[in-house]
Parts: sequence; C-alpha cells; structure tokens
Amino acid sequence: MASPLRLRVLGSGAGGGLPQWNCGCPPCRAARAGDPRVPCRTQSSLAVSADGGVRWVLLNASPDVRVQLASWPAAAPGPGKLRASPIAATVLTNADLDHCLGLLVLREGGAPHLYGTAPVFEAIEVGLGVLTALGAYGPTKSTVLPTDGAELSICDRDGVDTGVRIEAFSVASKVPPYAAARGLGRGRGELEGDTVGLLVKSAAGGRVLAYVPGVRDLDERLAGYLARAGVLFIDGTFFTNDEMTALGLTTRDARTMGHAPLSGSAGIVEFLGRFPAAERWLVHINNTNPIHFSDGAERAWVESRGVRVSYDGLELEL
Ligand SMILES: [Zn+2]
Repeated sequence: MASPLRLRVLGSGAGGGLPQWNCGCPPCRAARAGDPRVPCRTQSSLAVSADGGVRWVLLNASPDVRVQLASWPAAAPGPGKLRASPIAATVLTNADLDHCLGLLVLREGGAPHLYGTAPVFEAIEVGLGVLTALGAYGPTKSTVLPTDGAELSICDRDGVDTGVRIEAFSVASKVPPYAAARGLGRGRGELEGDTVGLLVKSAAGGRVLAYVPGVRDLDERLAGYLARAGVLFIDGTFFTNDEMTALGLTTRDARTMGHAPLSGSAGIVEFLGRFPAAERWLVHINNTNPIHFSDGAERAWVESRGVRVSYDGLELEL
C-alpha cells in the first residue's frame, strides 16, 4: 500500500485568509470582487498521504478545515460508511490560531491523532483549553513531537502506521499573542519547539518535503534541513518587512511578527536561491502581500527567481 508522498494544499493563505473578513487592502478588495488575478485563499494547511490517498495526515488544522474537506472528494467517508474519515492524524507546526482552531472543527466522533511539540500542546491548552474541550467530545490520542532529530512514524488514532514519516526541527519565529499573554514563549528564546519546520517523507521513499510555514531567522541550521528536501513549502507571509506598518495596520513589522520577508538581500527568496535543485513553493501568504496579483511586479520577481506561489487545491506527487 505504501507509495510516494502525495500532497494537497488545503489552504495557502495566512491567518485571516484572503479576503480577510474586515480588511480593505488591495488584494482583499480584488479577491472579494472576484478579480481573476487574485483567487481567494483559505487558511494555512497541507494534507499528505503515503498510501496513495487512502489515509491523509493534516499538517496544521485551520479554522477553514470544514470547507477545505467538504470541497475535496477524497476527504469524504468511504462508500457505505456512516461515520468515517480518511483524515488519520494532524501535525501542528506551532500554536497559531490559523493552525490550531481547526482541531475544534474536527471534534465530532473522535478527533484525528494529534501531534505537536510539548510547548505547542502547552500553548493550545493553557491559552485556549483546546485539549480539555476536545476531550469532552471523545478520547483524543496525542503524541509529543520530538525536536531532537528523531524520525516519527505518524499513526492514526488506533495506532496504525500511515506510512508518513516526520522529523521536526525548531525554527525561530514567534509565539502567538494569546500564548504570549499567558507568559508562554519567553525565556526559551522562542526556539525550543515553540515553532517547528517539518521534514516529511513516505516510508516507501521518494522525494522529501520540507514544510516551514512560519520562520523569522534564515540561519545555517535551517539551511541544513532544507538541503535534505526535494520539495520546499516555505513561509510566504509578507513581501516586505514593513508591509503591515506601511499600510498603517499595525506597529509590528514582519520580523516582529515572526516572519522573514520575501524580498531583500536577507529575505526568503534570496535564501531559497541556495537550493536551486529543489521545487520551491510559497505558502502561508498574508492577505496584504502584493504577490497575490498574478500580473504584478512582485509576483514576476519571485517567479524569476525560480520560486512559485502555491494555491488552494494544488496537488503534487513527490
Ligand atoms: Zn487584506
């Protein structure tokens, strides 16, 4: 049954999606108006399968997961099944609301097997009570993701191996505001498991996926992990460091919000130039980002550097 990894982009947007409910920025206005240059984006999540699409593992669970699964025939219960789902497990990369609120959406009939680092479990429980709330709807099997280089076999909630193998590695980013408000994240340098990237592969072999939807520091440690992957799905949140501040939307710049910008000599696109042999895609794209415009100069610049902009519904076989 084991086969090379299959991947589907469930949501390519960042928190708020595109358009965001209260936002009047140029991409949000265009998406809301149905401008074909700016397709709508749901919030940040991928699905991967290592058995040809029989069972799927979610990489983050966005608050849009209900519509992401409802609009995807492969996610339906099998024929003749009254209550069932091919969604076997969920792996969290951090505790951001756009990555974890979908856990509450998937509560009926027992949640998928949940994987996250100890600090991420602490954040979603102390800050939001997610695990306690889920437990009231049925047993939730959870497993702590190690960040010490160990490779983990991802199993469904009955303990059956899905064939998906994951190695998590800490990256420097930012804990979400709700967790920071509870005193979490500080004193750890925001490094030890608050945010992770994932190396994902199939037990059957094939190319390795690197999934890093949030990262601030583009350091040699990160480069070492990305060098092991053939397909990269990387943080495309902001084009410039002052994108949100220049619009007057916040006083916090991109790096303060835990994301390296795409542009500039210290930006993500320049950094991805170090991996020319890899297939390079952007995910977790904030609604303010000008790369949403398919005919824009920013999109042309990104693509001229060999980096592609992913989209909801994109499917790949690794
Ligand atoms: Zn917007």
